[in-house]
Amino acid sequence: MATVTDPRRRMVRRQIAGRGVTDRRVLAAMEKVPREAFLPDAMQEFAYEDTPLPIEEGQTISQPYIVARMVEAADVGAVDRVLEIGAGSGYAAAVLGELAGRVFTIERHPALADLARARLGQLGYDNVEVRTGDGTLGWPEEAPFDAIIATAGGPRVPEAWRAQLAVEGRLVMPVGETPTRQRLIRLTRTGPETWHEEEIEEVRFVPLIGQQGWPEEHEDFRRAPRREPRPISGLHQLIRAAEQPLPNLEDPTFASAFDRYGDRRVVLLGEASHGTSEFYRARAAITQRLIERHGFSFVAVEADWPDALTIDRYVRHLPARPGARPAFRRFPTWMWRNTDVDAFVEWLRGHNERQLAERRAGFFGLDIYSLADSIAAVLAYLDTVDSAAAKVARERYGCLTPWQHDPAVYGRAVLSERYRACEADMVAALRDLLAKRLEYAAHDGEQFFDAAQNARLAAAAERYYRAMYYGSAESWNMRDRHMFDTLQHLLAHRGEGARAVVWAHNSHIGDARFTDMGRVRGELNLGELCRARFGEEAALIGFGTHAGTVTAASDWDGEMEVKEVRPSREDSVEHQFHAAGVPRAVLHLDVPGELRRRLRSPRLERFIGVIYRPETELQSHYAEVELPSQFDAYVWFDRTAAVTPLPTVQRPGVPETYPFGL
Ligand code: SAM
Repeated sequence: MATVTDPRRRMVRRQIAGRGVTDRRVLAAMEKVPREAFLPDAMQEFAYEDTPLPIEEGQTISQPYIVARMVEAADVGAVDRVLEIGAGSGYAAAVLGELAGRVFTIERHPALADLARARLGQLGYDNVEVRTGDGTLGWPEEAPFDAIIATAGGPRVPEAWRAQLAVEGRLVMPVGETPTRQRLIRLTRTGPETWHEEEIEEVRFVPLIGQQGWPEEHEDFRRAPRREPRPISGLHQLIRAAEQPLPNLEDPTFASAFDRYGDRRVVLLGEASHGTSEFYRARAAITQRLIERHGFSFVAVEADWPDALTIDRYVRHLPARPGARPAFRRFPTWMWRNTDVDAFVEWLRGHNERQLAERRAGFFGLDIYSLADSIAAVLAYLDTVDSAAAKVARERYGCLTPWQHDPAVYGRAVLSERYRACEADMVAALRDLLAKRLEYAAHDGEQFFDAAQNARLAAAAERYYRAMYYGSAESWNMRDRHMFDTLQHLLAHRGEGARAVVWAHNSHIGDARFTDMGRVRGELNLGELCRARFGEEAALIGFGTHAGTVTAASDWDGEMEVKEVRPSREDSVEHQFHAAGVPRAVLHLDVPGELRRRLRSPRLERFIGVIYRPETELQSHYAEVELPSQFDAYVWFDRTAAVTPLPTVQRPGVPETYPFGL
């Protein structure tokens, strides 16, 4: 059975079968060939991503889906002789080698041909022959061919290929009037002089350079091919006409453009990175307005529950929870321990001071990464209200003790079946706690709610860490479901009429069904779940930028750095907003007509998390989105700056309760 732990199988199922390639032989061949073996070292970690990738000599290895689509269209039989033009890395030749009797592949760059030959030889493809030369002239000594596949785009089908194709043979190639934009066609030779041509889809390949292709200077077009055409000129003008310029962030009217979302049940505010000051400040300004003018009840952020609770108790003027530690001390600290969040927290505390206790706006965490702290919080709570129950809970949570500080290892241990799963214990601990809801809540409803949330988190985190070993989509989905459940519990806890502002990354907030996340990787997210539950009462607001600086690390647990954000790519959403020329703006995406139609054509969008790797930006940070379906509004800052982390020394005069204290 196909296990979802195997990235190659997952790629075949999601990216290829999921997009309608049905030929079982082709799917099996794609499952067999190790794409990483055809990539330069630096690219290997992206081998099963849904994208073309750069290879040596400024060329590309095609997107896996496109390879499968072309091979399927060529209808390669088990004894067929196949000619490929554009060996590149040798990957597509290996796939053909799995399917055909013999494969002849030509590459114009000698260095690439040598590498491809060596890789194919190492993997044992002795039915594939590689030659250096101008493939537009074909390989007359080995003709006729049952199938010809070209992986570079030419202006027309070369005469040499027509002549070398067997009657009933199939030729698949990208043909286009420009060297970088083509239609993928299939030409079938129906008789000695007759041909049948069909169009498959729009594509973008590197140019076919040669006597019967494009002249040499077109090799300057060295862009990664994408299936979508490049942005159509004029879109930025439509954006310019429709977007609403925003004043300075310090201007008290900055957030008035968001009053139209004041009647929603939940307003979700995104961010295109976890380290950009403008995104935090804009979210703070919008949230202040939603709380002050529109009566929103709390803010729920992409942070761990126990850390955020420390802030919550501070802003609502409640005593600190016994044993609580300063908030946000784990990597990536700057995500919440920064001067912008600090300013917002101080504002919220000041605002709440003037409110009745039950009307004070809270600050909560939706995330799932606090297994050890959450368990400790449940036990500390039970110690104070029910010591007998605390003893039982200690035993139950004991199942996870060996893994609490490195829970990622737990999933692997359970998968290897050397250790038992702790699911039943986690669920039982939660059930025990909830069963005594009335008794416990009579002491202090807030503290009971906190303990119950921590017990829910421990149960969800146990499932999450196990799922991590079954593939990224499952664990991602559990995390976002947990965030959504927590949001629902918070709304229910605050009672009828409660309304929430959510702060999380665009990847959690922009409806996943309209991005590569949902379409290709099978991931769902908080924004999508909110739309399903609240319909029009949810507003999903995304954020974007063209360039500037960002606080980020190069690797998980790595040093915090201030990095330059590269100018946005020409084929991105961001580039269109940049070209529109307004420094700060919001585009409400309920736009009709031409602008909507053109924005709906998929484009790349940049996602920077706590890690930023400009060297592999396309593969690491861009994904295709359909903007007006992904969000209800898009907030634009053309240039942005890195967040400033909070100082690590105690500031003089701060109250003892100060949640970011040392
Ligand atoms: N099939 C390749 C793979 O699986 O990695 C992808 C190849 S890449 C999209 C296209 C290749 O065509 C480039 O390596 C380029 O150098 C080559 N090419 C372009 N014009 C050519 C020609 N006239 N003859 C042979 N190769 C050519």
